Amino acid sequence: LAERDGVIWFDGEMVPWREARVHVLTHTLHYGLGVFEGIRVYATDRGPAIFRLREHTERLFNSAHILGMPMPYDRDTINAATIECVRANGLESGYIRPICFYGAEGLGLRADNLRVHVAIAAWSWGAYLGDEAIRHGIRVKTASFTRHHVNIAMCRTKAVGNYINSMLALQEAIACGYDEALLLDVDGFVAEGSGENVFLVHGGRIYTPELTSALNGITRQTVITLAREAGYEVIEKRITRDEVYIADEAFFTGTAAEVTPIRELDGRTIGEGRPGPVTRQLQSIYFDQVHGRRNTHPEWLTHVR
Ligand code: PMP
Repeated sequence: LAERDGVIWFDGEMVPWREARVHVLTHTLHYGLGVFEGIRVYATDRGPAIFRLREHTERLFNSAHILGMPMPYDRDTINAATIECVRANGLESGYIRPICFYGAEGLGLRADNLRVHVAIAAWSWGAYLGDEAIRHGIRVKTASFTRHHVNIAMCRTKAVGNYINSMLALQEAIACGYDEALLLDVDGFVAEGSGENVFLVHGGRIYTPELTSALNGITRQTVITLAREAGYEVIEKRITRDEVYIADEAFFTGTAAEVTPIRELDGRTIGEGRPGPVTRQLQSIYFDQVHGRRNTHPEWLTHVR
């Protein structure tokens, strides 16, 4: 990924892709205190459009605020830089990764001369879990690793260090032959996937865990809004893993994962073992929305050209 053409916005300037480097003593590399975002840009018939850019930037600033990282740029600058990254790299669609990190100005937990650096990269990228996953659904394993406690990690942040927990769970799931992990919170209730929020469908209603240890996903917010507009009741509540086993349908949501059906959890088939009608309907509404094929919520699309 580092060896390619293109440009990356780095501390206020566009730099050639291969030259957007950091020092090995970068503070965030050692201690994990940093924040980032994952955003998608989709092709529409009016050219590329960034999906819910303002909300992603807002979450980035909230993440930094929670961790006490002073942001050296304002929201308008970051929004404009993100748009410029898509434009300057000539992307029709893809993934955008803003990251804020402490530099190599000092090391040690007590370093008090650190500067916050900001980089934004954008590149072409397809389905995170593959086209098969979107079409046929995935097999998921409940992780032996517990999701963060709300007073151990800051769960409203998309923080660099938070992803150790996600990686442990995902590596375990993959080593066991599954596609993705489902993490439970400290009380044993369903929290989220390694990089996705989770939903169930049962008796025509849609359920998703309350936000405690799960990230406040922008795709989650989007799917809740779209499902309610389509006439579904969406209920946020505590969910147990066995409720997932007996759900009619289940799916993950995330910027990367989009709307990915879950066809199996821990060797138990969910519903018919293939994407159910509600999941397929929401998937299709979601894809129409992000590609600008609906008239609703034009404020969610930031056109790049
Ligand atoms: N949970 C976790 C742990 C994630 O990393 C992500 C991806 N950002 C999500 C949920 C989904 O969030 P979003 O829909 O904003 O991408």
